[in-house]
Amino acid sequence: MTSLPLISVDPDGRGRRPAMPPRHLADLDLPGRQALVTELGEPAFRAKQVSNHYFGRLVRDPERMTDLPAATREKLAGTLLPTLLHPVRELACDDGATRKALWRLHDGSLVESVLMGYPDRVTVCISSQAGCGMACPFCATGQAGLTRNLSTAEIVDQAVYLAGVAASGAVAGSPPRLSHVVFMGMGEPLANYARVIAAIRRLVAPAPEGLGLSQRHITVSTVGLVPAIRRLASEDLSVTLALSLHAPDDELRDELVPVNQRWKVSEVLDAAWDYAATTGRRVSIEYAMIKDVNDQPWRADLLGRLLAGKLAHVNLIPLNPTPGSRWDASPKPVEREFVRRLRDAGVSTTVRDTRGREIDGACGQLAAAEETDSDPRAATA
Ligand code: SF4
Repeated sequence: MTSLPLISVDPDGRGRRPAMPPRHLADLDLPGRQALVTELGEPAFRAKQVSNHYFGRLVRDPERMTDLPAATREKLAGTLLPTLLHPVRELACDDGATRKALWRLHDGSLVESVLMGYPDRVTVCISSQAGCGMACPFCATGQAGLTRNLSTAEIVDQAVYLAGVAASGAVAGSPPRLSHVVFMGMGEPLANYARVIAAIRRLVAPAPEGLGLSQRHITVSTVGLVPAIRRLASEDLSVTLALSLHAPDDELRDELVPVNQRWKVSEVLDAAWDYAATTGRRVSIEYAMIKDVNDQPWRADLLGRLLAGKLAHVNLIPLNPTPGSRWDASPKPVEREFVRRLRDAGVSTTVRDTRGREIDGACGQLAAAEETDSDPRAATA
């Protein structure tokens, strides 16, 4: 019998009480912020003013909050807007259209976010956990395991920070306003369920409550935590579900996505179709194309049969191999044949662009590189 790998869905991470960051206004709804401001001895409406600066104007420097009395700016900003993300590196590629940020959190954990500019939209890819407990063998983040869940504000602040970068005009050839958020950075979002849902509510609420994005422009990815997918369907949120399938058969998926040993392909697809039926949203099926592993024509045909007639779209992802990995990307002719077979089966299919390759764009690669650079043991390992 195959034993289950160490998959953590413990909301606090590894059963220990994690070192969570200081409370930030993005952890709270507006009434919660007003209560906090009142505790400071300030009028409740100050919460709305600071929230407008943060979410509406993307301003976090108290000196620029000139509608607040000078004497209380530091106190209010210090309490409501503690610094959560300390930049370690910011790298750009694709002629500046892709910018990757590596952050150090208050406890030393590293997380990554990516800003991607397109002619018609600006997308950020954000992390929901420091590390990940899902143990997918082809993924850099999965190799290091889970450190901890991010707080709601640590998740939201990645998007707000990069919305500010976009608003500064740093992404040439793209609109200045952040429009899309994808939860496809480090971590399994549905393993940090409550904080991710709270973060989504902040991202979609209009200012001053939140960032005012469209629900339809938010994508939540999962490896297939079936109970959490069903719970997400009941949240009355029209976000897109992206299911990281990577294999159409249990034998291979048990290896590539170890959580499959708990919830099989048929169960996870059933949950996805129920999600589509409840929300009316097309499910995005993510499939990393791995040379000689999951890219055979028969697997394309099997996937086509599973998805034909369903409210689904396949996103094929050319694998971005991690250094020293035994996994490699499928050759282009193999990829084209896979696409052809899926389309012949009537399944809408696209190949995702490979943004950020030059800057370790796949989740976890930049953090892994930083850990190696700064870990003296790595030199002798
Ligand atoms: S692919 Fe996603 S779910 Fe799997 S280990 Fe990596 S970050 Fe976690």
